[in-house]
Amino acid sequence: MRDYDSRDNVMMFGGMPVTKIADEFGTPVYVTDEKRLRENYRKVYGAFAKHMDTKVHYACKANSNLAILKILESEGSGIDAVSIGEVMTCMKAGFTPDRIMYTGVNVSNEELKAVTDLGVMINIDSVSELERLAKIRRSLPVSFRITTGVGSGHSDKVVTGAKGVKFGIPLRDAIGTYLRAKELGFDPKGIHVHIGSGGQSVEPFMEATEILIQLTNQLKDRGTDLEFIDIGGGIGVPYRPNEPEMDVDELGRNITEIILEETDVRKIILEPGRYIVCDTTVLLTRCVDVKDADGKKYVGVDAGFNTLVRPAMYGSYHHVAIGNKFGKACTAKYDVAGPICETGDHLARDRVLPNPEEGDIVVVYDAGAYGFSMSSNYNSRPLCREVLVNEGKAELIRDSERIEEQWRHQRIPERLIR
Ligand SMILES: *Cc1c(COP(=O)(O)O)cnc(C)c1O
Repeated sequence: MRDYDSRDNVMMFGGMPVTKIADEFGTPVYVTDEKRLRENYRKVYGAFAKHMDTKVHYACKANSNLAILKILESEGSGIDAVSIGEVMTCMKAGFTPDRIMYTGVNVSNEELKAVTDLGVMINIDSVSELERLAKIRRSLPVSFRITTGVGSGHSDKVVTGAKGVKFGIPLRDAIGTYLRAKELGFDPKGIHVHIGSGGQSVEPFMEATEILIQLTNQLKDRGTDLEFIDIGGGIGVPYRPNEPEMDVDELGRNITEIILEETDVRKIILEPGRYIVCDTTVLLTRCVDVKDADGKKYVGVDAGFNTLVRPAMYGSYHHVAIGNKFGKACTAKYDVAGPICETGDHLARDRVLPNPEEGDIVVVYDAGAYGFSMSSNYNSRPLCREVLVNEGKAELIRDSERIEEQWRHQRIPERLIR
């Protein structure tokens, strides 16, 4: 969690008072700091690139706004895409197909065809996918996602590398699958693992990489030389005050060291999503209602789990502050709850806050990853705005939807209209 400056008890974000941003663009609104975005990319890239040839494939499902993608494109990033929609969105933002890798799960033939038609490399998730791809197109460079049995994550819902999960090729089938791919005429270039999302320790990354190293060397003995090892994403970030941060320099040093020592592979790919965007963005939401419910105090705000689903879906902690009473003495414990008609619609629970009142701006921290990208129209609420700030200037990077747009694709059969 970052610390922020304030002026006259107003929190500053990207060189601007949060109250000014909220007044100008309305609430709820996601606000992203361009400078921080560039810094995060450079930090994680540098941690690996100083040791070996490195490609960072930003996992764009964390935040796929075109302006944010464009900034990362200009930094030299590549892309980890998990759907044809993400592939096309990234190409719209200026990424050429050779900078994108597609890692789907339970991928349809239509999607396999569409992705390979665009010339994007496929990271194959199953033997079924391999056999189906062979009927669509062969002699492609490919990579395989291996389920090493090493999992990690901030919630059970996002541990993707453990034994028995729906993702990837089980370890015991790995070598056989590569041999089958060669038999079918494919050109295996790499090996991939994604352990999960938001884990905070270096250990699982090391364990999973060790397994990929063993497989890489076994493949070499059988005449297949791989060009890259892809360690996936999942680098966690601290959401709570005083929570330690994972040392990406240590991660980069340790991972590249074992690859360089134990294999002939000289290129590493990593796919951080959360790490790059999480702390670049805050969600600004306005207090519209205050309530004392038989002793339980509520701050009612205009963003619910339609806008930020993580607390309701994973029980995630997001730090909150009152942007216009920054640093003021806290008065009591409150729950911050939204306008969605479900009891679970909380953004934060049991937080000490400085006398919240109607009109205050509640700042939800660390909302850049899986924030806007997981938002929905539930309760027929329109998707909110997104704003980019850079050194004291703010620009709209997504307008809010109009209510009418929610009806665009719906039809009432003629016979029901009288
Ligand atoms: C989601 C995902 C990532 C990124 O995970 P983070 O926790 O956001 O870093 C990377 N690779 C794959 C294949 C993914 O599905």
